[in-house]
Amino acid sequence: MRRVGKSGCAVGSWRSGLAEGIRRHGFRKWYERELITSHAHLVLLIFCTLGLLATFEAYDRGASAGQQLADVAAVLLCAGTGLWALRRYLFLLSHAEAAANQANCPHCDAYARFELVPEQPRADAVQVCCRKCRHRWSIDE
Ligand SMILES: [Zn+2]
Repeated sequence: MRRVGKSGCAVGSWRSGLAEGIRRHGFRKWYERELITSHAHLVLLIFCTLGLLATFEAYDRGASAGQQLADVAAVLLCAGTGLWALRRYLFLLSHAEAAANQANCPHCDAYARFELVPEQPRADAVQVCCRKCRHRWSIDE
């Protein structure tokens, strides 16, 4: 049996992270959370850069082999985590921006006033229905 939302747009099953996020929080909250998460990764990147610089600063050629090994391990840990955080920051930010750029209803231009529709034929896009004018369009992921 198909459920129907407040405005008359049907509500059904979802596949993607964007669809799940819209269903759970609504688009605006989802977008806000994505931005906060992406910037948290940027902060992590800054901390990793500081850790990397501190490790270079603390490195001593005359230190024991064990200490030098620990310094190299710290450099690798900071560099690896920093690269991961950078990738995640860029991905989350561009994903959220790409979705936000498609959040205007093409028919009445209402921003982010939509809900999901049950028919989700494409795995790479989310079908949505405008709450104001009932126009349907898809948001590419
Ligand atoms: Zn509309």
